[in-house]
Amino acid sequence: MSQFQSIDVADYYDNETFERIKAFASDKVTPFVVIDTKIIAKQYDDMVQSFPFASVYYAVKANPAPEILSLLRDKGANFDIASIFELDMVMELGVSPERISYGNTIKKRKDVRAFYQRGVTMFASDSEADLRMIAEEAPGAKVYVRILTEGTETADWPLSRKFGCQNEMAYELLVLAKELGLKPYGLSFHVGSQQRDIGAWDAAIGKVKVIFDRLKEEHGIVLEMINMGGGFPANYIDKTNSLTTYAEQIIHFLKEDFGEQLPKIVLEPGRSLIANAGVLVSEVVLISRKSNTALERWVFTDVGKFSGLIETMDEAIKFPIYTEAQGELQPCVIAGPTCDSADIMYEQYSYGLPEELAIGDRLYWLTTGAYTTTYSAVCFNGFPPLQDYYL
Ligand code: PLP
Repeated sequence: MSQFQSIDVADYYDNETFERIKAFASDKVTPFVVIDTKIIAKQYDDMVQSFPFASVYYAVKANPAPEILSLLRDKGANFDIASIFELDMVMELGVSPERISYGNTIKKRKDVRAFYQRGVTMFASDSEADLRMIAEEAPGAKVYVRILTEGTETADWPLSRKFGCQNEMAYELLVLAKELGLKPYGLSFHVGSQQRDIGAWDAAIGKVKVIFDRLKEEHGIVLEMINMGGGFPANYIDKTNSLTTYAEQIIHFLKEDFGEQLPKIVLEPGRSLIANAGVLVSEVVLISRKSNTALERWVFTDVGKFSGLIETMDEAIKFPIYTEAQGELQPCVIAGPTCDSADIMYEQYSYGLPEELAIGDRLYWLTTGAYTTTYSAVCFNGFPPLQDYYL
């Protein structure tokens, strides 16, 4: 009896969808990602339904393909932008600047100027130097300050620490913003991507409330907006709660602190809108063992850490992998094709792979629509960037 449990594709896609993706993929050269935009449309609708009062700003970094951006544009989404390059992509599709927030706290002066000249008026910040620069290059702009959050251990892909500042500093920055002629607009946080502990939002909202109250009482500054970032779940091997459960609890936390009259709420989902829509298809290049008696197989495939699967770093994201090969599931190391020894995705893949897996077989990496294509834009070892197709 195998120690492993097999992947049930039905936990991730309905049968018809998966068969359609497989049929589309059948004559394509691996590796590539197929993204079913119908799933994205549904995920977006679910997000809007779950948080009916919120404004959704899609975190473009998750996947900036024009097919996705135009779908979300047509659905009325707004956009959280990280760079001048993302700004170009979104504005080329006719998105107006009022639907854009410059959400990166690390930015060049010339980029702030360019955003402002193109009509963007909402900027994130978490430092005095950045805030002063915004005041000079984007006079009168709306600024929101990002605070640090807890919960890094319960997020698969933590995001606090590099971004955000302590509460006291956030408070001081918003006072300074007013002095500099900016509009102190609100506060933001990101509890970490694929955050498994819904309580992380409770703690963050609690911090935000304290700063809202102090600014009003001590300086007459009335903040209008809370940007609650991303962190909402996608379907990976370790299951989390549904989006509905997240929403119910987060709304409860908001109402507990702010009552029925909520400030403007902004959400910046990336992973939860896109990841479930993608299947990355790769091919087994080599299967080997380190000795004739070793139990463990090494499965080398034509996609790796440097061609889209960087989120397997420290095995942070555990992608479900489906294969049509038969036989008992056995332990294996799964590694990429480059000559870099860091190019190992899983030292011991939690689900094992079937005994009869052979060179040339296909591996279907489920839930790979987000943070894959964008992370593979290098030609390391000469391998081209990951190809993507949109259904
Ligand atoms: N907002 C900001 C500022 C981010 O940096 C990110 C991710 O890096 C997101 C939103 C999207 O987060 P997620 O993919 O967890 O939804």
